[in-house]
Amino acid sequence: MKKSFYEEEVENCASALYDGGWRSDERDEIQEEYNLDDEWTDAICEKLKEYEGLTKMIKCYIMDTDANENVGKHFKVKEFACKDGSQVVFIDSYLVSILDILRNQVGKPVYINSGYRTPTRNKAVGGAKYSYHMRGMAADIRVDGMTAKEIANKLKKIIPSGCGIIVYNTWVHIDTRTKAYRKGV
Ligand SMILES: [Zn+2]
Repeated sequence: MKKSFYEEEVENCASALYDGGWRSDERDEIQEEYNLDDEWTDAICEKLKEYEGLTKMIKCYIMDTDANENVGKHFKVKEFACKDGSQVVFIDSYLVSILDILRNQVGKPVYINSGYRTPTRNKAVGGAKYSYHMRGMAADIRVDGMTAKEIANKLKKIIPSGCGIIVYNTWVHIDTRTKAYRKGV
């Protein structure tokens, strides 16, 4: 069944709030901050509860001590590190799981061109203003011998709902945003 405009709007608001760190137990604060009526606030909080079921686990690592630590089955902390040499690295465990599944399926290395980015680095490379890279929730990846579109199609099958997949010329951007976003795939 096609979603109504209202449902669509509730989802848009809730996913933006969720990704911005709001939670369903902050009902009154949300209502006040965004000047919403009761119906909208309740609908949005219901959606937030759903999203909370898909709990994100964003972990923080330190390069000096954790660079060679394994995250998931096939990756190390240093592969997600910011290219500006920052000590701190944020990595979403959900993102790692998706990359691990992809790695298993393709049977060869999945290279991370860009993982975590500090806000300064993100600005320097022209990243989106609220880029998921700044929260450890995104990776730009490539696989030797595969086109970006082929990689994106595999990802689409691994994550049929939710997450962002964007096809670029030579790499694919994948992020763990709540509401599905697809571009070029
Ligand atoms: Zn990206």
